[in-house]
Amino acid sequence: MSIKSKIQELHSSLPKNVTLVAVSKTKPVADLLEAYDAGQRVFGENKIQEMAEKWAVLPKDISWHMIGHVQRNKVKYMAEFVDLIHGVDSLKLLKEIDKQAKKHNRTINCLLQIKIAEEDSKFGMNTTDAIDLLASAEFTQLENIQVVGVMGMATFTENTAQVQQEFKNLKITFDQLQEKHTTLKIISMGMSSDYELAIKKGSTMVRIGSSIFGARNYTPAI
Ligand SMILES: *Cc1c(COP(=O)(O)O)cnc(C)c1O
Repeated sequence: MSIKSKIQELHSSLPKNVTLVAVSKTKPVADLLEAYDAGQRVFGENKIQEMAEKWAVLPKDISWHMIGHVQRNKVKYMAEFVDLIHGVDSLKLLKEIDKQAKKHNRTINCLLQIKIAEEDSKFGMNTTDAIDLLASAEFTQLENIQVVGVMGMATFTENTAQVQQEFKNLKITFDQLQEKHTTLKIISMGMSSDYELAIKKGSTMVRIGSSIFGARNYTPAI
């Protein structure tokens, strides 16, 4: 199926309250343009430099999401344009985002990444850390960031029951945080293999790559 028809199919099948993030990491600008021409405006990348290079050449009405792990010393390269940073997992990182956003006179939206998977390799905070972060005096002083929700990645497994439980846990964490912080609106969960399950469990934002653009080739791009 072409990128265009895949985008159109997703736009017509996803519930209206669910935002589609087209995950375009490793894919050439021509592929992003094909998705753009089919009406897609939200793109997700996991490398800051790659995202900045694409931002520079693509239409300016694209909303850029950083979905990968963020190193503090690279925040400055995306502060001018990034719309939503999904992988925020510490106050230290939030402070750096705030500092860089201030330089551009912007507010940058962020999601707290919550660890829901069993695997050690997945980044994220636990629920208690997230509660403490949002309640801290230091956090309330940050004026150029806005925490608008949570993000999580389920374990990479065929075990549907496990994935379902992990999504459920993220929804529970979200509800808990949202009681005190009503500005939280977004639950970013679900990828190509599990987004339908994620939506059933309350996802409002799905991050879909390979089922739109095809399998990724991991040879490093020059
Ligand atoms: C790559 C990536 C995705 C998309 O994965 P697909 O399986 O290709 O849909 C979603 N979320 C994150 C954080 C990713 O790094």
